[in-house]
Amino acid sequence: MSEKSQNKSEPKIVRHSEWCDQQKCTATPACANGESHQGTPVVMPLERGGPFPVTVTAQLHMPHADWLTEVYIKIEWTGLTNADHVTVGGTAYIPADLIGELSQALGGLAARASADKKIELTEYLNTFRAAHTDEEVTGP
Ligand SMILES: [Zn+2]
Repeated sequence: MSEKSQNKSEPKIVRHSEWCDQQKCTATPACANGESHQGTPVVMPLERGGPFPVTVTAQLHMPHADWLTEVYIKIEWTGLTNADHVTVGGTAYIPADLIGELSQALGGLAARASADKKIELTEYLNTFRAAHTDEEVTGP
């Protein structure tokens, strides 16, 4: 390695990924701490008709450094409630290459919940019908 290439104060070439929104990107040739490449946020309002509107915002994010860095999906959410029904929000940085695995696991959980909800509804309706039928048979 030449002496010139070891000079830390030498300006670096900034490479922006095709997804980088340069209006939001903070990467500079100085390569200062905290700089990052950022994609355009994708805002997803999740309507369920409840009292707390839930919004999830996802954005590609890659720290800018002198070395190769991971690409993350930054996920921010508002309007979710915790076990005490208190509104909470948060931010998570998930490595982009793990999103497929995470998505598959969450989809599996959602499918199990949906299937069980259908069984519960069927059982509830059968119990309701049986009680209603009894009333008609034994009614005045
Ligand atoms: Zn950038």
